[in-house]
Amino acid sequence: GYTDKPVVGPNYLETEQIINAFNALLRRMKVLDDSRQEFVSNVSHELKTPITSIKVLADSLLAQEDVPNEVYREFMTDIGEEIDREDKIINDLLALVKMDKKASGLSITSVDVVNLTEVVLKRMRPIARKHNIDLTLESNRAITAEIDEVKISLVIMNLVENAIKYNKENGTVKVELDADHQYFSIKVIDTGIGIPKDSLDHIYERFYRVDKSRSREIGGTGLGLSIARNAVLMHRGSIDVKSTLGEGTTFVVRIPLICVGSK
Ligand code: ADP
Repeated sequence: GYTDKPVVGPNYLETEQIINAFNALLRRMKVLDDSRQEFVSNVSHELKTPITSIKVLADSLLAQEDVPNEVYREFMTDIGEEIDREDKIINDLLALVKMDKKASGLSITSVDVVNLTEVVLKRMRPIARKHNIDLTLESNRAITAEIDEVKISLVIMNLVENAIKYNKENGTVKVELDADHQYFSIKVIDTGIGIPKDSLDHIYERFYRVDKSRSREIGGTGLGLSIARNAVLMHRGSIDVKSTLGEGTTFVVRIPLICVGSK
């Protein structure tokens, strides 16, 4: 029993346990430090890519004499696109960093979820039209929830934007809202290219993209889903995905109707 232990002198079993626990802690800290370093190196790389392109474009424009007006315009358009890209990466990073800070909790109000979704979809319609995608909303009940309006807007926006971007010509995106007595759900169903099975575990990682070159062409930063997942987890909700390659993808988000938020 406890009282049999010597009062002074080492207890070897305990010492070993403490050393083991300490080593486990060091290993855990190393994992955290490694992933932090990886994140910083990813950020630097992502931020540098557009800058490098801009530099190359500007240099080659300067190297030519008497540049025809249309060539000049073409280069300046490319430069403008790279600047837009840089801007998008910086905005996504700021959104992520803001959510990472412990102090920044949720700003909870009573929200009409159907109306909120309609507002977000209205903003996405021009992009859908540009890609010839039919974007529809289905909801057969009123849903009021205690949530952070801005963060849930980001979730819907990122999911719908992906559903449009990774779709096919004349494809569809259906957003379905529903609720039970505890949760409301947002389903985003697309008829797009789908996600390969072995990528499904990685899509929420920062900067992860199934197809880097394709995603870059489409204008992705690889941050959208990590932002969405962060926001959902802050609400103590869940996000799930089902996908069939070449047929389409469905994301399902479930959020408590009354959100107490996570610590
Ligand atoms: P991105 O800015 O590249 O879209 P995300 O974090 O939003 O980054 O998504 C990560 C990757 O997951 C995307 O690059 C894409 O390959 C894949 N993906 C996300 N949503 C879909 C979808 N609806 N259909 C197919 N692939 C998707």
